[in-house]
Amino acid sequence: MFEDIQEVLVTREALEEKVKELGKRISKDYEGKELVLIGVLKGGVVFFADLIRHITIPIEMDFISVSSYGNSTKSSGVVRIIKDIDIDITNKHVLIVEDLVDTGLTLRYLKDLFEDRGPKDVKVCTALDKPSRRKVDVPIAYNGITIPDKFVVGYGLDFGGKYRNLPDVCVLKESVYDNKVD
Ligand code: 5GP
Repeated sequence: MFEDIQEVLVTREALEEKVKELGKRISKDYEGKELVLIGVLKGGVVFFADLIRHITIPIEMDFISVSSYGNSTKSSGVVRIIKDIDIDITNKHVLIVEDLVDTGLTLRYLKDLFEDRGPKDVKVCTALDKPSRRKVDVPIAYNGITIPDKFVVGYGLDFGGKYRNLPDVCVLKESVYDNKVD
């Protein structure tokens, strides 16, 4: 796995520091409020697990699974729910926890979906942001680290189902992508 890495783009230390800071801000902003964190599977799971341990107020949590890239590095723009949340978010504050905002299409869809279910509000928290590729505007209340327009893996993000367990955010060698991109 490590021999496929070309470059570490964001180190685990930088991620840890950012996550701590986000946890602190979220704890302060939602003090005394009913907060539901919704993690987006599978990519958001590493960030989610790190983030909740830096939140010092009571929270509820749930997960939604949506279709993403499959084996390709290009977004189809089509969002499909594979697993919905189970809990009722009526009158609660919702925070969607994502791995990375790229075109914004996934988050736009999720935000609209949850807003139709009568929450107090729906905000977004992302570990990584790639603003240069945005197609639709989605406000990000809690942004981790802004990255350039490169396809990355690690810290929850995959390529062909692999590399999610890399602790840093990395760019793979071109030869790895060339062999698999459809
Ligand atoms: P969007 O809908 O904003 O284009 O992207 C949604 C999802 O696509 C992200 O949550 C992430 O799972 C995936 N994605 C976007 N950019 C990358 C990338 O550089 N690497 C990987 N592995 N996944 C990405």
